[in-house]
Amino acid sequence: MGNAWHIGTFFGIPVKIHWSFGLLLLFITYTVLTNGFKFWQGIGFAVYVFILFFCVVLHEYGHALTARKFGVVTKDIILSPIGGIARLENMPQKPIEEFFIAIAGPLVNLVIGTLLLIILYFTTGQVFPDFAYADFDQPVELLRYILWINLMLFLFNLIPAFPMDGGRILRSLLATKIGKVKATKFASSIGKVLAVCFVIYGVFDQQLILALIGLFIFMMAGQEYDQTKVLALINNTTVGDIMRTSFTKLHLSDTYATVIEKYYREGEQNFLVFDSMGNISGTIPELFIKDTIKDNAQEKSVNQMMSNKLASLAPDTTLKVAIETMRNEGVAIVSVEENGVLVGVLDRNGIENFLRMKSE
Ligand code: ZN
Repeated sequence: MGNAWHIGTFFGIPVKIHWSFGLLLLFITYTVLTNGFKFWQGIGFAVYVFILFFCVVLHEYGHALTARKFGVVTKDIILSPIGGIARLENMPQKPIEEFFIAIAGPLVNLVIGTLLLIILYFTTGQVFPDFAYADFDQPVELLRYILWINLMLFLFNLIPAFPMDGGRILRSLLATKIGKVKATKFASSIGKVLAVCFVIYGVFDQQLILALIGLFIFMMAGQEYDQTKVLALINNTTVGDIMRTSFTKLHLSDTYATVIEKYYREGEQNFLVFDSMGNISGTIPELFIKDTIKDNAQEKSVNQMMSNKLASLAPDTTLKVAIETMRNEGVAIVSVEENGVLVGVLDRNGIENFLRMKSE
């Protein structure tokens, strides 16, 4: 998300402001000047915009704190002129969890709006602002604008334009019927169509922010569908499905000349190294081979430059767990062992090739 300014951490979740938020100040100034606002009206309008964004932050906390209930961590909340986003570290697995996380945000706006509606109705008898006059300098009128915008935020976010909240709700409901991948494909297609409508409407009605939201949704919809596809793929593939059963067993005394020959001839990019007893004692990641080629140091023995980090996985491990293990352990290749017997290897390049092949 580029540069963002950290304004504080609440409930253990950092809130950041994206640099483009500065454009909002320009927007406020522009509105104040073009509408011929008087001084206090201008100040009132600025206050209104900031309260509006405060409500957006509360909306995001609705998502984040509900996500926490399901064990999903929120990395941060970022505010931009086109809205807020609670960035979740991982997606909830069960559709029903996504449903509650997605609906919690709009519900926060509904609660704020309803409370203001009740308060304003019983104290003033009038609930909606007089749009003809922009009396932002009247505190009660300002509250009416806040009430109005919260109800608008509630409704707007329920539009099923994936990945907006309404789109997530739609996907979670569909996912229980047709599975997550198909549900995402459907929801993101609807999202793209609606996004185009937002852009067209935004341009013709000079609603710049709506047009930008449309562009953003359009870009994100496809991206998230791809992510969902990959996630489903790595959850449904096991190490045994894609491991290599034929591979070179290097020995400690082998030189890099041998390794490089295998590298070019056989196309193997990462290797396991065995000691004289036949036990695995290290690995040679592709990075070491490239360095050796660059340094022209083929005479070096494997023993002199190998990685001591080892990891082994069972064939029925999912690819998702395998990727996480390899990342956490910092290994480029793992041995695949079944009941203590070495049956194959899996390396980073193998995983990349598999994913590339599947995504074409
Ligand atoms: Zn939301």
